[in-house]
Amino acid sequence: MTGTPSQEVLRKLPGVDRILQSPGMEDILNRYPRRLVVEALRQVLDAKRKEILSDCGNASTMNLEFAHIITLTEEKLEALTEHTLIPVINASGIIVHTNLGRSLLPPDAMERLQLICQSYNNLEYDLEKGQRGSRYVHAEAVLCELTGAEAALVVNNNAGAVFLALNTLAQGREVIVSRGQLVEIGGSFRIPDVMRASGAILREVGCTNRTHVGDYEAAINDSTALLLKVHTSNYRIIGFTAEVPLEQLVALGRERGLMVMEDLGSGCFMNLDTFGLRGEPTVKSTVAQGVDVVTFSGDKLLGGPQAGIILGKKELIKRCRKNPLTRALRVDKMTLAALEATLRLYRDESLAMEKIPTLRMIATPPEVVRARAEELAKVLNRRNGDGAFQFTVEPCFSQVGGGALPGEDLPSFAVSVSSNNLSTRSIEWRLRNNRPPIIGRIESDRFLMDVRTLQEEDFPVIEGVFSKIFSTVDIDSDVGRL
Ligand SMILES: *Cc1c(COP(=O)(O)O)cnc(C)c1O
Repeated sequence: MTGTPSQEVLRKLPGVDRILQSPGMEDILNRYPRRLVVEALRQVLDAKRKEILSDCGNASTMNLEFAHIITLTEEKLEALTEHTLIPVINASGIIVHTNLGRSLLPPDAMERLQLICQSYNNLEYDLEKGQRGSRYVHAEAVLCELTGAEAALVVNNNAGAVFLALNTLAQGREVIVSRGQLVEIGGSFRIPDVMRASGAILREVGCTNRTHVGDYEAAINDSTALLLKVHTSNYRIIGFTAEVPLEQLVALGRERGLMVMEDLGSGCFMNLDTFGLRGEPTVKSTVAQGVDVVTFSGDKLLGGPQAGIILGKKELIKRCRKNPLTRALRVDKMTLAALEATLRLYRDESLAMEKIPTLRMIATPPEVVRARAEELAKVLNRRNGDGAFQFTVEPCFSQVGGGALPGEDLPSFAVSVSSNNLSTRSIEWRLRNNRPPIIGRIESDRFLMDVRTLQEEDFPVIEGVFSKIFSTVDIDSDVGRL
């Protein structure tokens, strides 16, 4: 057949130049660079062309009006010029969610960030001596005060901290680690890989489920530099297990003249047993056991900015600081400002609990979460005019996340969303593609929004998003996309 309906329709599709010259484009051209407008318009017309060719039956009814093309172009421009890093609403129930930016900073840290970044500061200037100073002194005093450590060094992240400590203290020498502690964190951080990269030689001992102090003893030789304990932060071995307590490792290290290091992972500064989270050692108790070096993250349970913190004996920290690699792992003033401000809150534990979002979310009692969930469900059900959606409150479990407290889930409550018109996957898709995106989870074919990780300002936003969805549910548009 020649002159098919779709080809006729194609001929009606206006060209880029004609649309650019139309009066409806004036406003857009004032707001966006011409180059981008042309690009957006091309993409819109290309998509239309493909649509026409792929679907000749409907082609004749396709909307090709200028106004419609211009609206699509404007939407495309918004997408093309959007920031790539944007806020999202965390309804996943995972408090320290590495994919969603880990810890929210406390307001005190935000204020400090603003102040320090908007003014010159003494980042590397010794005000007493009137000469060049070291950025590494900042946050050190408060870290030592809170943990009892002799010295501290802050680097880019905990992977960097482990790497730097091993490179400084054990390059070309053996490091003994229990086989049960050779962990992988977040897909790319694996203890054996970091160790190899640092130049230290891994000496595995024991079995996956059981390691005894005798295993360490038997592996010690002339090239042993240190004994390393890794907090198995994202999984737990249960059943017939044995791990050598840090105290015993420290005693063995003393006896044999070897350094002992622990990678704590999360860096918990407060005992969280009262919140139903047992077994996470605090940094202070770890330091008190006489370990030579401890490393942990700044943005996990500590609740501050991304950072890696190395605490330890003065002489060892000094050696780390002098390592030329420290420069490659160094932190910015933003990290130091936010970290120091976060740490200062720990001088008063109840203040820390109240002001540090990560801790506050862990400490929120389930009854409080339930009341918030019920309020949210009530508002959503009230707005849900034609009853196309159902919002119910259901018990669920939140996780601390960030490789902290595996298996210690927090009882919580979620608003479950289901719909007569939309599939669960479609609901998830719509919310994830909203601006701001709402990230929940699907469980037993229901979309759940765990209320524990919602912030106060998220509630009106969620209500607004559903109001919009209620008024625009177009079932057809969802078919085919999913
Ligand atoms: C999270 C974690 C790391 C990596 O820390 P980052 O701050 O993400 O670099 C290393 N070791 C352990 C035990 C961890 O839990």
